[in-house]
Amino acid sequence: MSKNIAIIGSGFSALSAACYLAKNGNNVSIFEKNKNVGGRASQFHKDGFTFDIGPSWYWMPDIFEKFFNDFGKSVNDFYQLDKLNPAYKIFFSDDTITIGDHMDKICKEFERVEPGSSKPLKAFISEAQTNYDIAINKVVLKPGISPFELVTKDTVTRVDQFFKTISSQVRKKFKNPKLISTLEFPVLFLGAKPNNTPSFYSFMNFADFGLGTWHPKGGMYEIVKGMKSLAESLNVKIETNSNVTKIITKNKKATGITVNGETLNFDVVLSGADYHHSETLLDKPDRQYSEAFWAKKTFAPSSLLFYVGFDKKMKNINHHNLFFDTNFEAHAEDIYDNPKWPEEPLFYANFPSATDESMAPKGKEAGFFLIPIAPGLEDTNELRERYFEKIINRFELRTNQKVKNSIIFKESFCVNDFIEKYNSYKGNAYGMANTLLQTAFLRPKLKSKKVNNLYFTGQLTVPGPGVPPALISGKLVAELIKKYHSN
Ligand SMILES: Cc1cc2nc3c(=O)[nH]c(=O)nc-3n(C[C@H](O)[C@H](O)[C@H](O)COP(=O)(O)OP(=O)(O)OC[C@H]3O[C@@H](n4cnc5c(N)ncnc54)[C@H](O)[C@@H]3O)c2cc1C
Repeated sequence: MSKNIAIIGSGFSALSAACYLAKNGNNVSIFEKNKNVGGRASQFHKDGFTFDIGPSWYWMPDIFEKFFNDFGKSVNDFYQLDKLNPAYKIFFSDDTITIGDHMDKICKEFERVEPGSSKPLKAFISEAQTNYDIAINKVVLKPGISPFELVTKDTVTRVDQFFKTISSQVRKKFKNPKLISTLEFPVLFLGAKPNNTPSFYSFMNFADFGLGTWHPKGGMYEIVKGMKSLAESLNVKIETNSNVTKIITKNKKATGITVNGETLNFDVVLSGADYHHSETLLDKPDRQYSEAFWAKKTFAPSSLLFYVGFDKKMKNINHHNLFFDTNFEAHAEDIYDNPKWPEEPLFYANFPSATDESMAPKGKEAGFFLIPIAPGLEDTNELRERYFEKIINRFELRTNQKVKNSIIFKESFCVNDFIEKYNSYKGNAYGMANTLLQTAFLRPKLKSKKVNNLYFTGQLTVPGPGVPPALISGKLVAELIKKYHSN
């Protein structure tokens, strides 16, 4: 029987869940506090420039394709996807490494840096591909209810990979520190240090070198627009500027929500807002996790972000650029072990207009700079400015050009904005990290243990941070709702 379902928030996981729930015949309404849908993937436009505020790396194109296929559609029905070549460039203090769009090119680059390294690289990526097939086709499609979900004939033979770290595995095969950093980079998307991430997650290396880096023409927000239009075609109602302040319960059952002061009744409530915030919408006895629980968890970093309009084209850069020209371990320590502002941060610079002319006016460049930092740090204008100076000076040095005088405007976004805009716990950017003790059934649950028709989705639950996992999270929670509420 069709249910009236309320969804709080409109990030990727919420939009994904909405589509599946509506396809299953339910009446679905999304309530988003901000003026636009998309959550952390919103976009802003200024003076002819377009900036994606959050995600910029389009990895795992197969997962996006499978999502749209589930509705008889294809990615191409909604946006144009281009494979980037080169995929990205990494700047070190004395060299750069360029990652091409094919294993042959990547092997050649590895050989240039460390003769003989292409052979272990091929073996490493082949193992990573096997892990990808197991992870994406089997493990991540499980709802994280029981440890037995992880026990399959494929995972049993790989159990050691859950106890060894990606860092130790990479170091066993490669000696050159630049190649080590290159191979440790992909797991940073999971939100934890490589020496705290199980080596099974090498499947991220296959996503990187095997599947490549893609760009939706017009930016990542094109995915949001595609999902919104799909949801609307399935009759999902989307209400923006709709702040949910309460999940109403009676006798361990959610009866509705309070939106902009008005009480609305529903059969099922699903929250795609940050899990911690979602639980604060409940009376205390209905919450599953205490403040002490959240405080003990390893959160993915927050970020200091800058969106800069330049009045000229940049030289010596690619679409995606990583500045690994300072000490990786020191920065990681400042994020995870002893949270503080890093002295000499690594940073990431994205110039979508380098390959997509729709992102900036002709002859100009749209620049996005990201410094990962610990969640919950003090955030002031002075600190933001000090860090912009640090990275823009390093950017000029490493790319061998002057750019400061070419800045038309600069906007920033940091911890306080993550809290204010998304109700994010401690201003985290990418949710809760995927460490060994925060994987699968050890993550906060999709289904409330206390309120029987209340569900959660998104980057703090299963399977974890990132856009592809958010699409999967929405599908998993919709399947659970179907299982428990179909009559
Ligand atoms: C700077 C940055 C860079 C990133 N880079 C990448 C990348 O390159 N590639 C990648 O794959 N992933 C990347 N990610 C991660 C990815 O963007 C996220 O994992 C994903 O978008 C999270 O989606 P979500 O559905 O969990 O939640 P969100 O996107 O956080 O959506 C939650 C929504 O709930 C709304 N909400 C909160 N409280 C309420 C309330 N009380 N009432 C109503 N609405 C509410 C919020 O406004 C928000 O719209 C990045 C993230 C950030 C922040």
